[in-house]
Amino acid sequence: MFTRLVLLGPPGSGKGTQTERLCKEFGFTHISTGDLLREAVRNGTTLGIKAKKFMEAGDLVPDDLVIELVRLKLDNCPKGFVLDGFPRTVEQAKALQRICDVDAAINLEVNEEDIVGRMINRRSCKKCGAVYNLQSNPPKKAGTCDKCGVELYQRSDDTEETVRARMKVYKERTMPLIAFYRKQGVLMSIDARGGIDRVYETIAGKIRSS
Ligand SMILES: [Zn+2]
Repeated sequence: MFTRLVLLGPPGSGKGTQTERLCKEFGFTHISTGDLLREAVRNGTTLGIKAKKFMEAGDLVPDDLVIELVRLKLDNCPKGFVLDGFPRTVEQAKALQRICDVDAAINLEVNEEDIVGRMINRRSCKKCGAVYNLQSNPPKKAGTCDKCGVELYQRSDDTEETVRARMKVYKERTMPLIAFYRKQGVLMSIDARGGIDRVYETIAGKIRSS
């Protein structure tokens, strides 16, 4: 069975939710490089101390440092893993390949218009953090949080312009990665337009029968 997975998908594609469910059903370990970095910094490990310098300066943490964190974590994934948010570039994918084989790179294929629609209609409550969607999950009273009655706001990075810019960057960076994994024969493309449950069943079905 496939147990070493990479999950690819743009912001808003439901990657986090799918990862969580895969880990719950199959016992995989969720590897998020963001979490690994924060944990290393918090624990003050040698790698954490090095990473902290870059993070504090607002720089990207170098690939070799991130890869080393991933390598250490891989020793602790008895039932397999799902890598989420890494690799982001072909360089990182090659570095990953040097320490571990990947059974499948799951690519969540979404419609850009769906993503844009979902993000620009998102409204949040500053007080309790509740998130609404003007189309799919609107508050009972327009512009007001159901729980606290305070005014909802739109995150400044949820405007159409920013969302489209983010999608563009994602596509430019990820296309070569998709080509890379296709060439390796491990690309698994999933139509991620349906609801969360349907998408999950498609992915899980492929893993169960692998
Ligand atoms: Zn609220």
